[in-house]
Parts: sequence; structure tokens; C-alpha cells
Amino acid sequence: MQYQSTRNSSVRVSSAQAISQGISQDKGLFVPTSIPVLTAEDIQDMCGMDYIARAKKVLGAYLTDFSDEELGACVQGAYQGKFEEDKVAPLSKVGENTYFLELWHGPTCAFKDVALQLLPYLLTTSAKKVVDGKKIVILVATSGDTGKAALEGFKDVENTSILVFYPEDGVSPMQKLQMTTQAGENVAVCAIEGNFDDAQNGVKAIFTDPVMAAKLEKHGMMFSSANSINWGRLVPQIVYYISAYCDLIADGEIKAGEPINVVVPTGNFGNILAAYYAREMGIPIAKLICASNQNNVLTDFIRTGTYDKNRVFHTSISPSMDILISSNLERLLYHLCGKDDKTLTSWMQALTEEGKYAIDPQMRAELQKVFWGGYCDDTATKNTIHEVFQKYSYLCDTHTAVAVNVYEQYVKETGDATKTVIASTASPFKFSSSVLDAIAPEKVDKNDFVTAERLSQVSGYAIPKALKELKDKQPRFDTCCTRENMEQIVLEMLHIQ
Ligand SMILES: *Cc1c(COP(=O)(O)O)cnc(C)c1O
Repeated sequence: MQYQSTRNSSVRVSSAQAISQGISQDKGLFVPTSIPVLTAEDIQDMCGMDYIARAKKVLGAYLTDFSDEELGACVQGAYQGKFEEDKVAPLSKVGENTYFLELWHGPTCAFKDVALQLLPYLLTTSAKKVVDGKKIVILVATSGDTGKAALEGFKDVENTSILVFYPEDGVSPMQKLQMTTQAGENVAVCAIEGNFDDAQNGVKAIFTDPVMAAKLEKHGMMFSSANSINWGRLVPQIVYYISAYCDLIADGEIKAGEPINVVVPTGNFGNILAAYYAREMGIPIAKLICASNQNNVLTDFIRTGTYDKNRVFHTSISPSMDILISSNLERLLYHLCGKDDKTLTSWMQALTEEGKYAIDPQMRAELQKVFWGGYCDDTATKNTIHEVFQKYSYLCDTHTAVAVNVYEQYVKETGDATKTVIASTASPFKFSSSVLDAIAPEKVDKNDFVTAERLSQVSGYAIPKALKELKDKQPRFDTCCTRENMEQIVLEMLHIQ
């Protein structure tokens, strides 16, 4: 299996190369040249496997330059004993036809763990093959969740170092504490004076600085990225949609071959794109429902065929979906336009220059055959959390609630009664104050830990261990730097000059 660039179809690299490199030199994203297909028999076989075995099977279809042994070591290292009760992606049935796919039982209580626990193994295994076992140095600029999930994933992984920069005043106190208390010998965390863009621009500048690259090279090191455009972050996400389908069969909820719908609360379009790949591989997914918050650029795109980011940016109670440029959409468009790299490049150029592009009506029709888009605002999100809790005693977080709300809109409009899997992307305790505000507003406290305790009392759900333990942890990192001395911080962390 080879990978090609969305902006130049003739580029061909191995999966190890695609993962080490992250992004193609032409700024395109790597996609598989063909999508592997699972037969009905394959799916039947996978019903009898545990998550780790299913993951190995799916990864094996995409990462054909990894040996069986290597794949086994990667998935075992990532998932064995790392998720609460060893459940990586359990389903929770709520109501007649809907199932929550709970992706937040990992160390940071959000779905990004599923990919970021595995990525370090994929990256180090890839590096051994194509860049001669160099030490991988991961730099992350984060507005909150990605930084912590990446730290947990790379913590003490051999032959890697990770350094996370976060905006001093741009993350919640809980998120800050999650990062500054991070354990591990190969990790560092640093605040930067400024906002997320300053952190992001600083990291990009270091990535592309030839002087820095030469300094690292001299010591047998190289930079890499844990960003969601890396194929190594996408492929682990395909697994859980296939696994969910197998679980539904194994539990007798559906018959083999029966179609299901999938709803995904969407930001950068990575998670829903993984569901699209699962569909292309042969999982009978009828509709993919793309749920957005007030930042509804994707809803408009799916309905009109015009992508237009020239609009007000809203900060919402589902912050991980506050995004106006969904990078991974590029991969979907590439597949839908018949791999027409020229046209795709012109759209992406228009997006950079004018903030806008439009696909033709025929392609829009293709898009709408598979995707349905909808959105809701913060008030609707809170009402949904309240209703779901009242009706089913099930507690969902703000992102998941957006998905539930949009799914209800979809059912109302279409009357579609197909069994449906809703991706549940974060533990409700990660967003305790918004969630408690939805079900018992008078109980919300200024202190997040107090609020989490009260949410636990009101709901009867336990606070995840990882969040609870945070209260008693001591911060290890208190450095704050300016944009100008970020490079110095990187060199100091690596003990090089
Ligand atoms: C990152 C994130 C999302 C959005 O996922 P994408 O893959 O970027 O579309 C949704 N919910 C939560 C909790 C997240 O952390």
C-alpha cells in the first residue's frame, strides 16, 4: 500500500514515510492510493476478536510495510492497560435505536487519546525504517486538549522527546494543571506570553528553521508533528467504527450486513473522516451525520457546496469544535473529486487567498448522498444535556450533546429509523461546569474540582480517576517564555546548543 499527496497525485511514499513526514512537501495530505476492503467474512471474524486484535487487523491493511510483530507491539503498547477497565471504545445503548460510542476512557478523558496513545509507537517504528532510528522531537502548540493527550501518549516512549507550548492565558485552569503536572522523563511544558496563534506561529517557525534542523541533525534528532493531519493519527480512528459495528453484531443488536448511521461532533473533520474510511472499507454505514456548533461552516458546506470561512468566530461551550478551517476535509474532497489534484489545489489556494471555494453541483450531490450536516448553539446544547439526563439518566458532555441535538434534527427531518452510533468524544467531567449548569445550575462552583464533585453527586457517575487525582498533584513545570526565546527553551530541553 502506497500513499499519495492530495496536491500531487504522482507523489508515492510508504506508510512509514507518510507517518514520519506528517505532511507532503507540496503541503498536501497523504491518503492511501486505494482503500482496503473488508469482506463479510472478515467482519464476521473480527466479531470474535478483542479491540487490540481488531486494531491490529485494520492497521495491517493500511500499514503494509509494518511487520506483524511490529504492529502487535504498537497496538499492545498503546492500548494494553491504558484505558479504564481496558475498554478502548465501548458502546452504551440509550433509547431504542441509539448507541453512544464512548471514546473517552483513556488517560486524558477525551477521544484524542485513542489516536495519540498509538501515534508514538507508529512514529518511532516508522522512524526506524525510514530515518535510521533518529530521535523524534515532538513540538506541540495547544489550546488545551491536544497538548495533554500528546504528552500522555509520548510520555517515556523510547527515542522521543515532547515539548508542549500553551498560551499563558488561553487554557482553562484544569487544562493547565493537567499539563503542568505531567509525569515522564522525556516531557516538558512551557507557557508562552501571548495567545494560541503566537504559540502556533512560534512552533511553525522552529519547525521550518534550517539552523534548528541542523542542530538537531548533528545530535541524531529530528522534529516531527503530532498534529491531526498526520495519517498516523487518522488510521487508529478508523478502527473504532469497525469495532463498534462488530460489537453491535456480537451483542445481537443488528444482523450482519444491516446498515447503521453514524453521528460525529466535528471540528477538524478527522474523526468523521475516519468513519468515512470505515464506510469505504465495507462497513454498511448509510448516513454520516456531521454535527457542528455555532461555528457551522461545515453545515453550510454540506448543504450548499460552498465553503466560506469568512464569518464571525464563536467561542462556545464545546471548544474543541470551535474551528473555521477543517483541515481533514481536504482528504474527503480529494476522494470525491476523483483524485483531481489540480482542482483540489485550486480550491485550497482559494481558501487561503479568499477564505472561500465552491464545488460543482454534481460533486455536491455525491457529498450529500453520504453526508448530512446540522448544527446547534450553546442553549440547545445545554437543553440536550438536560433532556438526555432526565430521560435516560445518561450524562453526556457538551460536544457529544451537539451530536445528539443534530441527530434529533436529522430524525425529525427524515424520519430515518436506522440504528445509529453517536460518537461520544469527551467525559462529561472534562466540562463539569457546563454540564452541571445544564442539569443543576444552582450547584456550579467557581472551583472546578468542587463542581466536578457536585456533578458526581447529582448524576451518580464517578469522576474519572485521572481527573480526580489531579487535585493532589504538584506542578512540575512553571516556565513561561516569550515568542522570542522559544528556540532557547527547545535547545535547553534537549540539552544541546
Ligand atoms: C478534537 C475534538 C472534537 C473534534 O474532532 P475532529 O476530529 O477535530 O473533528 C470533538 N470533540 C472533542 C471532545 C474533541 O476533543
